[in-house]
Amino acid sequence: MIDILSYIPQKRKQTSSGWVSFNAPCCVHTGESADRRSRGGVKQQEDDWSYHCFNCGFTASFVPGRPVSYKARKLLGWLGVDSTDIERLNLESLKRKSLLDLTAERNTIKQTQIDFDEKEVPEGVELIDPELDQHKHYQQYLDKRGIVLEYPFLVDKKRGPRDRIVVPYTYKNRIVGHTSRYLDSRTPKFINSQQPGYVFGYDLQKPNWTSAIVVEGIFDALSISGLACMHETISKEQAQLLKQLKRRIIVVPDQDRAGLSIIDAAVEHKFEVSIPEWPEDVKDVNDAVVRFGVAHTLQQIHQNAERSKIKIEMFKKRLQRKLND
Ligand SMILES: [Zn+2]
Repeated sequence: MIDILSYIPQKRKQTSSGWVSFNAPCCVHTGESADRRSRGGVKQQEDDWSYHCFNCGFTASFVPGRPVSYKARKLLGWLGVDSTDIERLNLESLKRKSLLDLTAERNTIKQTQIDFDEKEVPEGVELIDPELDQHKHYQQYLDKRGIVLEYPFLVDKKRGPRDRIVVPYTYKNRIVGHTSRYLDSRTPKFINSQQPGYVFGYDLQKPNWTSAIVVEGIFDALSISGLACMHETISKEQAQLLKQLKRRIIVVPDQDRAGLSIIDAAVEHKFEVSIPEWPEDVKDVNDAVVRFGVAHTLQQIHQNAERSKIKIEMFKKRLQRKLND
């Protein structure tokens, strides 16, 4: 296989989430001006890798066992990989496929593979750069909401009629959708491009973590590296994706009417539920993080995590009474 990291420029930056950013090689080939602000990003896990550019929007990925795609070939070529090496990679990958097929055939338990289509981020966006004057208010918004996570938050290059922050959705490090959070007070606050069954935050979960926290909104998830269903319920497909993490799943409902229905969904899927006793004006995990900080909020969530259906029903009644007061 190919170690893509050995082909990218030496001038690079590694983020805590495993992405390596460097000046994107694609833009000059896609009709954009050359990238000088390290807007290309690559993440490699074993022999899998994916690439995206937040300057021209070009994306490409490689998964062993599948043919090397047209876009992956392009990218490797721009990075200076020899065409014979690309061809060799393709052959090795296909060889791996026949081995994978054999193993799958021997495997009597058929597992449905969860997958999403790869999508591009909206046109004309760029990464938030806290150094830029015209980006300061976006960074201030994230700071105000207690978001310290390094995440590729995007904004419009040319300011549109409504200021927004675009949050790319990823699954196994490929971009599969996005949401726009508008910063004014008009509705809708969010516009989502989301595939059915998708859960935000899958890639934020670390292999050694023993639990995963599921919340309703994307900023709740971003503030504690949790997962978000972004609905008032958890669909069967979303539950399947969560179970795939093979760890404790703790659902934290918003403390409002919508929260009540996500509690029912959590019980149905046999997940744990945590309803910390927060002050009246703390309605969700993000409010709690802003008020108490990340560590304390996580501690509250774990201390109040409950598995017993009877106890969860009791807590639900307590929340109902609080909402009726
Ligand atoms: Zn590019």
